Amino acid sequence: MASTVFNKILRKEIPAEIVHEDELCIAFCDINPQAPTHVLIIPRKEIQGINAMADEDVPLVGHLFRVARDLARAGGLEDGGYRLVINTGADAGQTVFHLHVHLLAGRTLTWPPG
Ligand code: 5GP
Repeated sequence: MASTVFNKILRKEIPAEIVHEDELCIAFCDINPQAPTHVLIIPRKEIQGINAMADEDVPLVGHLFRVARDLARAGGLEDGGYRLVINTGADAGQTVFHLHVHLLAGRTLTWPPG
């Protein structure tokens, strides 16, 4: 599969404001934030998106959500609330084909999304 900009961030070939790293994933601030808090949580494993997720990736995807929860907790976002988003495919607005969870918070988020 084609390498993405996220792979370059994983390899530290380009800079990013990294807020979490562990053996399975990293999390960093979005370069074009859509809310006061906008963090991307991505697996180290190159998975293009939810469509490409294998059954064996279920624990890994669960781990991404656990990290999102922990970041939200550490950031004091639990009371106000936050949104976790995985855009899947072009119609949903996916632009980087390396699986990622958006963690958005810090303003009132409208529903439905545009
Ligand atoms: P998607 O549209 O695929 O759901 O989300 C991709 C996200 O990656 C976008 O919110 C975009 O701003 C972010 N992004 C794209 N390139 C970079 C980059 O080089 N650095 C960082 N930190 N974020 C990026």
